[in-house]
Amino acid sequence: MSGALLRLTASALRDRVAAGDASALAVADASFERAAVVGAGPDALNIVLWHDREWSRAAAEQVDAAVIRGDAPPPLAGVPVAIKDNLATTHLATSCGSRILEGYVSPYEATAVRRLRAAGAIIVGKTNMDEFAMGSSTEHSAYGPTRNPLAPDRVPGGSSGGSAAAVAAGLAPIALGSETGGSVRQPAAFCGITGIKPTYGRVSRYGLVAFASSLDHVGVFGRTVDDAALGLQAIAGADPRDATSIDVPVPDYRAASRMSMRGMVIGCPREYFPNTLAPRVRDRCAAAVDALRAAGAEVREVSLPHTALAIPAYYIVAPAEASSNLARFDGVRYGLRLTGDGLRAMYEATRSRGFGEEVTRRILLGTYVLSAGYYDAYYRKAMEVRRLIASDFAHVFASGVHALLTPTTPTPAFKLGAVSDPYEMYMSDIFTVTANLAGVPAMSVPAGHVDGLPVGAQIIAPHFGEVAMLGVAYALERALGTGGRR
Ligand code: GLN
Repeated sequence: MSGALLRLTASALRDRVAAGDASALAVADASFERAAVVGAGPDALNIVLWHDREWSRAAAEQVDAAVIRGDAPPPLAGVPVAIKDNLATTHLATSCGSRILEGYVSPYEATAVRRLRAAGAIIVGKTNMDEFAMGSSTEHSAYGPTRNPLAPDRVPGGSSGGSAAAVAAGLAPIALGSETGGSVRQPAAFCGITGIKPTYGRVSRYGLVAFASSLDHVGVFGRTVDDAALGLQAIAGADPRDATSIDVPVPDYRAASRMSMRGMVIGCPREYFPNTLAPRVRDRCAAAVDALRAAGAEVREVSLPHTALAIPAYYIVAPAEASSNLARFDGVRYGLRLTGDGLRAMYEATRSRGFGEEVTRRILLGTYVLSAGYYDAYYRKAMEVRRLIASDFAHVFASGVHALLTPTTPTPAFKLGAVSDPYEMYMSDIFTVTANLAGVPAMSVPAGHVDGLPVGAQIIAPHFGEVAMLGVAYALERALGTGGRR
């Protein structure tokens, strides 16, 4: 009985709870039981870093009490959700997968988390991630890697690998992640689920621990497109606490499920289908394109000519901002403090022991590209390239294209430990970093399997074009029959 509850979509689960047919408490218990099963044994998935079952149960009991009182049930009543460990929570720790924040409990709560709780969702845990969201495999966590629930010898992707795995393993139908260069879409593709990166400014970043502020987004995972849309609905909207959040009305995202593909123009950018693309990934995308065409869409080949510059530009802009943002972890204000002989020795000991290798690499790189004499050569140049990438998207969308369809990643999930060269790891975001640089919304939906491993199709839309993007996603899910498969 309880395991069956977790196989329901978020909206079906919520309706059961709202009708009093299932208790939020039973749902929460089922989630913790599931977490215990996948968290045990030699193939333990290592999804959840911090949880407090009694605290979650108490929240669930409040939802049940409200149902019994006859209060109007909120849109996520009793739905378990998992939260990436770089979103601030006031009861559970927020470590960002780092030693430097081990045991840190935030005095304030991220807006996205607060909105989920206000919508009746039950937080069941903080999920594993690459340290400070730097990585594409969750292997850079200070707390050990997360395994892919569909293939435990493989990575779940990253940096939001724990949240993607939580959804794929059935702990929760919805989870929050974060995106700087693909950290929701890439793990969604690797775990066979849906992942949305909304428009920059659509969801408040208040309480999201900063990696690269101009590229950072809160994103959402769902087992189905509808679950992800429901999650986005709950967290979207302006927030006075984030000056970069934008006051544009939030449409009804789930209404996109009724959108017809007739009259839709879908662009396939040729730069996202290079000759080096794995043939079977290309085949899955071609099948997705065919499905959209069969549903009535017009498909055109288009060009985004500056795409090849995206990874180099990203790996200047993101480390530059990171080197500045991470300066606050100095042993004085937060978390870890190692003592040394004097203040400087304290800083050095704390930061060199507190940060892992990848974070250190980014801080060094970022400090270098911002230093006097190199700023113009690297940082300014990268900002110019960023503008060109944004104008590539603007031109294509101005030419009458409603959405773009691309592969989410060049390959399916790779084996744990298989990618040790940082540059090779960076290349797994080659199709996703562009949307962060331009701020446009993008999502990944399941597009079938290659060698038994899931492959994702990416849909990219113009700024605040989430409804069109979701319309394509719902149509694709329907046509490919991928909704809700676990
Ligand atoms: N993998 C990319 C990086 O390491 C993107 C990470 C992210 O989106 N947070 O920077």
